[in-house]
Amino acid sequence: MTTGDESKAGLSVPAQEARYFESLAKGVFEIPFCVNCERWHFFPRTCCPHCDSEHLEWRRPSGDATIYSTTTVHKPNGERYAVCLVDLAEGPRMMSTIVQADPDRVRIGQVLRSTIEVRDDGPLLAFTIVGDQA
Ligand SMILES: [Zn+2]
Repeated sequence: MTTGDESKAGLSVPAQEARYFESLAKGVFEIPFCVNCERWHFFPRTCCPHCDSEHLEWRRPSGDATIYSTTTVHKPNGERYAVCLVDLAEGPRMMSTIVQADPDRVRIGQVLRSTIEVRDDGPLLAFTIVGDQA
């Protein structure tokens, strides 16, 4: 059943996600910015989660972020890595992976910088640690 209101639901949809990953594949980290309320959001949606505006633009955030929470993932092959909720300097909170760091040294509040890793299953936005406190 459809209500005709899907475009207003503000949910992430394949077209927006595809746009995000297309940019990553080109080495560009871009997320939606709402021109109406001048706030950023993530995941990409058809309308702004803050004000419902559809007047969105893709913009490049600074790449600066801090760790909000962290957990260590243990894979069956013994590999370990940190998966974190990170707060972008622009506001959005997103889940990501910390690379080039011992997971035991990853701490809440550490300062991060975004990087794009090219993996077999596609581009991945990740973060490296650049400092211990914001
Ligand atoms: Zn807005």
